[in-house]
Amino acid sequence: MNKANGTNGTHAQPHDAKPREIVVEVHRVRVNIPSTVVALSNGYGGCITHWAARSRYCEGEESGCTYCKRKAQRTWKGYAPVEVLDAENELWIPAVLEITENLEPELRRRWRRGTVWQLWMDDDGRGKRSGCMGKLVNELDPFSVLETFDVTPIVRRLFHVDSIDLSKPNPLPDRIVRTARPAKRVAEPPAGKPQPPAPAAEPAAGVRDRLNGMFRVPVEDRNGDGR
Ligand SMILES: [Zn+2]
Repeated sequence: MNKANGTNGTHAQPHDAKPREIVVEVHRVRVNIPSTVVALSNGYGGCITHWAARSRYCEGEESGCTYCKRKAQRTWKGYAPVEVLDAENELWIPAVLEITENLEPELRRRWRRGTVWQLWMDDDGRGKRSGCMGKLVNELDPFSVLETFDVTPIVRRLFHVDSIDLSKPNPLPDRIVRTARPAKRVAEPPAGKPQPPAPAAEPAAGVRDRLNGMFRVPVEDRNGDGR
């Protein structure tokens, strides 16, 4: 089974939805190409990596990691067995999803077998990409999706290492999520209790003229009887 035989899904003919065997590869979310994935596992593994020409597996400082000694930047990466939607070919492609540090807090405590996720990474229009983001969009019957598989051999191959420890948690903390209230509520004074106007500093003459023009409120009145 190899790519030249067109067996990895990428070379599949459009609208040929017959099941086929593919070599499982690592799937990364790419800029401006959203992915839809189904979780096949109830959890995911992770490890620390360094960037040195390419991504390198961190053996751990205590194990004499070469890149730790060089003080190379450390980045967590996670891996999970998934099916990736290939909408064009109407196929679910088994793959190992690479989870970034930025994406993982979204998946935390919600990732379980059968959950369907929309994942994306935007381009800010100036050549800079956002962090990978994700949204839980659906949940399928866990019995209806592909049997899970061990990602370890695929991740070992990715980093060219004999053994790999995928038990490291993402060091990034939980996101703090609070609800934004409609601004109208705080802008309205409580009923029956007119609020005195906030004391305003006298604007410079030029600014005052502009303000008067914009809001049509004579500055003298504001500062006079406290209307
Ligand atoms: Zn290291």
